[in-house]
Amino acid sequence: MPSQIAPRGRKVRVVATLGPASSSPDMIRKLMLAGADTFRINMSHGGHEDKKPLIAAIRAIEKDLKRATTILFDLQGPKLRVGRFEEGRVMLETGSEFVLDRLDQAGDATRVSLPHPEIFAALEVGARLLLDDGKMVLRALSVSEDRIVTRVEVGGILSNSKGLNVPDVVLPMAALTEKDRRDLVFALEEGADWIALSFVQRPEDVAEARTLIGGKASLLAKIEKPAAVERLEGILELADAVMVARGDLGVECPPQQVPLVQKQIVAAARAMGRPVVVATQMLESMILSPTPTRAEVSDVATAIYDGADAVMLSAESAAGAWPVESVAMMDSIAKAVEADPGYAKRLHFTETLPDATTADALSLAARSIADTVSASAIICFTLSGSSARRIARDRPTVPMLVLTPKLQTARRMGLLWGAHAVQTRDVASFEEMVGKAKRMALRHGLAKAGDRIVIMAGVPFGTPGSTNVLHVQRLTGKELDGYTD
Ligand code: PGA
Ligand code: MN
Repeated sequence: MPSQIAPRGRKVRVVATLGPASSSPDMIRKLMLAGADTFRINMSHGGHEDKKPLIAAIRAIEKDLKRATTILFDLQGPKLRVGRFEEGRVMLETGSEFVLDRLDQAGDATRVSLPHPEIFAALEVGARLLLDDGKMVLRALSVSEDRIVTRVEVGGILSNSKGLNVPDVVLPMAALTEKDRRDLVFALEEGADWIALSFVQRPEDVAEARTLIGGKASLLAKIEKPAAVERLEGILELADAVMVARGDLGVECPPQQVPLVQKQIVAAARAMGRPVVVATQMLESMILSPTPTRAEVSDVATAIYDGADAVMLSAESAAGAWPVESVAMMDSIAKAVEADPGYAKRLHFTETLPDATTADALSLAARSIADTVSASAIICFTLSGSSARRIARDRPTVPMLVLTPKLQTARRMGLLWGAHAVQTRDVASFEEMVGKAKRMALRHGLAKAGDRIVIMAGVPFGTPGSTNVLHVQRLTGKELDGYTD
């Protein structure tokens, strides 16, 4: 067996966030065996020193289990926070006035400092300021360059350094803070496969990060601000993937809008062939309990029916009491949904018209041929991963085996719907291609004697963007004789 982890038997990918509950190599290995395809390392908590062992552990287990594994490095982004209070916390009375200013002084029940000059410049009278995940609401009565007077519309207890959201304005803020830039350099040095960018507001934010990353990793834009939803198309053009980041999204817009926005983002991302991850509170009660609520199971199922590429665990795997059970639960929900004959039908409600390219024409044909001749798998030879993404975009019924000579490409496939990626030596001829496709399909348990497979590749071999071959083959089952690769 070339790998101790067989193809997952499901199309949707599972992302598990690592944290205090899942930092040991033993736990990371268990999560991988239970079904985690991608590990998220969250830079909102801790420093570089505690991230290094995590990355080392993932790479060691990857090598041991012989399965390409994906590391998603999540940058904190420009998270806004209020200053500190003399007493640590204050009571904001509903209906009273409260001032945000730029004084370098601890706050009290009438004022607190706000260390973000951009907000003073951009805020308009009437705009809302949401405190502590939206628990408290202020409305701006007057705004000057060093003082914002607000009315407390919803009061509560406000303590030191609580988060602040200003959903009504686009802030003229860089998407990457100084900390993000340092974290990014570290992440690229450590070999992160994906970089997640938080609080993206505009396509320009994505463009800036792309330049800094310089192709060393793929880029995921977290959609968690209404401004980003309004500019979704432009962001999707420039990002390699997006996340429906429902935690902050549900603070920045009314919670009842989140399901609609989720469907909108998933559909738009799928139409453009960008992987889309649905995230946050998916199995929230499993932080404390070994079984989820029915509503949570239904929420994960809905994301899968919508056609998301991946579903994500946050605190459930990072800080909860049941990390392995949470991953196993995601895995079983995905398998149950995907076994429903209605799943494929629903998936294709979302129209993904092909671009006028050879790769899209062949991807669509691969799906149709696989269905027509009841093939067992689509085998995709790829250098950059781009043809695998075009095949996945069509959401074919059969599994896809992605063969690539580049380990980096195989690792980047961990967010892609239906992809089982394997690094293997490059092929040099048509005959070699056919032989290798058949052997790999057999070896990974995706086809057996008598089955047909559909092969997609580019000739001349080794040239990126040359996808031009679609080939159907029947297996005898004897293809492995005398081969070890
Ligand atoms: P976070 O992002 O966990 O980094 O806040 C996800 C979200 O906001 O949903
Ligand atoms: Mn967030």
